Amino acid sequence: MDRLKKLFENFSGADCALITSDINRRYFTGMKSSAGTVLVFPDKAYLLIDFRYIEKARETVSDAEVIEQKKLYPQIMELVKRHGAKTMAIESETMTVRELNAYRHFFRELDIDDSDALSNAINAMRSVKDEEELLCIRKAQEIAEKAYGELLNFLRAGVTERQAALELNRLMFEYGAEDISFDTIVLSGANTSMPHGVPSDKPMTDGEFVLMDFGAVWNGYHSDMTRTVCIGKPTDEMERVYNIVLEAQLAAIEAARPGITGCELDGIARKIIENSGYGECFGHSLGHGVGLEIHEKPNASPNYAAVLKKGEIITVEPGIYIAGKFGVRIEDFVILTENGCDNLTKCAKNIIYL
Ligand code: ZN
Ligand code: ZN
Repeated sequence: MDRLKKLFENFSGADCALITSDINRRYFTGMKSSAGTVLVFPDKAYLLIDFRYIEKARETVSDAEVIEQKKLYPQIMELVKRHGAKTMAIESETMTVRELNAYRHFFRELDIDDSDALSNAINAMRSVKDEEELLCIRKAQEIAEKAYGELLNFLRAGVTERQAALELNRLMFEYGAEDISFDTIVLSGANTSMPHGVPSDKPMTDGEFVLMDFGAVWNGYHSDMTRTVCIGKPTDEMERVYNIVLEAQLAAIEAARPGITGCELDGIARKIIENSGYGECFGHSLGHGVGLEIHEKPNASPNYAAVLKKGEIITVEPGIYIAGKFGVRIEDFVILTENGCDNLTKCAKNIIYL
């Protein structure tokens, strides 16, 4: 996988790096586990892992020397001394204060770098997807879309939000998801004006929007999409709002390319919504990265000044929410290519009347 080798090309703040978060450990070793420690030096990496995982680790992890964990701190200290390291960086984003205190207490002679440098470097690495990761994400999305296509036959007046959410989850598992990306959102009618509402026992009725935000996980990688459909016929206002959101979404996808900042991309969709008089009704940011976690770097938001890079994934999910009436959100996710982007979401998004 080579990711461990590349860590010190992206990070130079300390003599070694201690990786303890489950997700980052999986990212660097390729192996899922609920415990274990990766210790990385510029020329060598180690995975210390306990008895429960040792057999699998020896079979599957090739980029790090696998060591059975007995007494973690003395074992880490021994490796640190062997490599003559004086400073060790930790993941500020995920290490708890208690763990940090314990490391400080035990490794007195070591200078522990608790700055954001290591977490930032890892986040930047993770945000750019390689072919292997992209394959998993495409597969996750395929599963979610297949389930969604099937769900459309199930939606009708009388079906409750919870029933629809349950059916969507069931279909995703049936089609091969190892998990769902997050608690599936299915909302209808006035509930759709709450961007992250929770499915209730409310039945869907004629002339209402149904908003569904969901994703599947495949081999650790997430997908994320939102569709808003109508049961029966929408009002003129509903149709108008739907088309504004769609126009904003299409314009942002058109503009998504390496070199644009997250803030600029957000602004393209936001401008269209503002110009049509609904600026106040788009209260969240345009998008986020997706990968081993459902929300990761980069971001497309008014305060994300960093430039987006080739190989990064970003969701494009503008919405208009009119309290007490209805809401519309349309979400695809794209990967940035040399000159533009490739939309990983294939299913239609013209307004659908069921
Ligand atoms: Zn979503
Ligand atoms: Zn999203």
